[in-house]
Amino acid sequence: MSSSIGPVPAKADTFLISCIDPRLTDDTTFRFAALGRTDRYSEMRIAGAALALVDQNRPGWQAALWENLAASRALHGIRHVTLLNHRDCGAMDLWARRRLADDPVDELRVHTEVLNGAADAIRARHPDLTIEIKLMELDGSVTQPSCRSCVPMGFRLGVIAQDGLPVLEPSPPPPAAPRMAEMARLRSQSGPLERGAEFALLEMGITEDGLTLAQAQEVLAASATARPQEVERDILTYLRSQADRRGRISERVLGEAAALYRRLSGPGMTEQESREAAAGIAARAGFTPRPAGWWPFRSTRWWDSLLA
Ligand SMILES: [Zn+2]
Repeated sequence: MSSSIGPVPAKADTFLISCIDPRLTDDTTFRFAALGRTDRYSEMRIAGAALALVDQNRPGWQAALWENLAASRALHGIRHVTLLNHRDCGAMDLWARRRLADDPVDELRVHTEVLNGAADAIRARHPDLTIEIKLMELDGSVTQPSCRSCVPMGFRLGVIAQDGLPVLEPSPPPPAAPRMAEMARLRSQSGPLERGAEFALLEMGITEDGLTLAQAQEVLAASATARPQEVERDILTYLRSQADRRGRISERVLGEAAALYRRLSGPGMTEQESREAAAGIAARAGFTPRPAGWWPFRSTRWWDSLLA
């Protein structure tokens, strides 16, 4: 039962630590949106991101970060920390006393060290949280440097072993999409749901899918299909922000637009269907493809096949 005292704090699964660099804020937000994480992560921006936990000359920054992480655990129930550094970072340059971007290989090495140092520190304080480390390129793409304290995909932290560190165990498969989600999607295709239809679907989720009322309400909210013109508008906004000066989009950008389309349209859509839908929206708006592949075999076949 929910308490009647004060507002219920929002839930989030991830605490994201990113940099204050203004060039990358929209990339970070979009990347998490494309992963379906909007409203499900709590973000702290601090100069140099992971550097704040490593730079011994800034104890105040470390204290602020630890306090915010603890607060997000308590308030939002986060289980996971993402450390997101980026290339050409001014804060990292000041700390390293050289322009790291002048030598990209050295830059990657220094970031990997800093990210690992921060991950170790988090692991020591919060051994039950999973951690991932990431490095963002200036085009918004993200790589994952090797990490000694992180938990690989498909695993979770199990019981604490005698050495004080948790054991890795395979994580359980995600639950199958409840039947009520399918039904909600079908029913809402003909317009907004009536109150009575909503109750019937919630009842189905509880009695047939074994969900709690809160879970069923969540499924219902996620299944209510966004109106097609709203989806199209959001996709176009994203494509405009990512197209090059000649109005061309890359295969990667189209993939992210497709992921966004799938998230906005609700469950039940395949990856291929969403790619075709996103390509259709892009083509109708006059965007053209950037060739992909290696010279001299660069081609726009990736795009042509979606519009066939
Ligand atoms: Zn930075």
